[in-house]
Amino acid sequence: MKRAFIVFFGPPGSGKGTQAKMVAEELGLVQISTGELFRQHLAEQTPLGHQAQEYISRGALVPDEITIGMVRQRLQQPDCATGAIFDGFPRTGEQAAALDELLAELDAELCMVIDFTLPLEVSRARLLGRQEGRVDDRPEVIEKRLSDHAQVEASVMPHYRAKPGLVKTVNADRPIEAIFADVLALARSCLE
Ligand code: AMP
Repeated sequence: MKRAFIVFFGPPGSGKGTQAKMVAEELGLVQISTGELFRQHLAEQTPLGHQAQEYISRGALVPDEITIGMVRQRLQQPDCATGAIFDGFPRTGEQAAALDELLAELDAELCMVIDFTLPLEVSRARLLGRQEGRVDDRPEVIEKRLSDHAQVEASVMPHYRAKPGLVKTVNADRPIEAIFADVLALARSCLE
């Protein structure tokens, strides 16, 4: 069977995490959410969790070295053999370059980048309405994460747009099921 490695890219509140979970389940892929991995480390109070805590609670990016190391470890687990959906990673140019290298080490490459687009106002409203009790879902931190996303996009997307056909855009300002239908069809095409 073919392996599929796909990046889900989009602003906080775009629903890419929800979609990554649903698509991964449907296609038997692993979801690699760096935000989720960090939250697990925080909950388990690991050394990595301690290192990341200060950055996460103020809505800042965790340094590349820590983040890339964590993804490298995750990709070495056997369940990644069929492929993975990256959710919230990469967020810097260095992370994007590192991901290419990590996949090359596995003799693999990225099949697709799905770019979830939606108006800033919609992201903001969704984040303000979220009741997950996350340490970074406070209004002032939400504003910072939203405004930082423009920088994240400028750092990451040129790397991918340079490769013709790699980036597929999905309108994320729609009901979950409509987005899922599109995203699933796109992701499935990586396995054909
Ligand atoms: P998320 O769940 O993707 O919104 O991530 C929550 C927080 O985890 C972010 O605000 C960052 O502090 C940290 N984080 C998640 N992914 C990354 C990444 N790729 N690079 C640096 N920091 C990250």
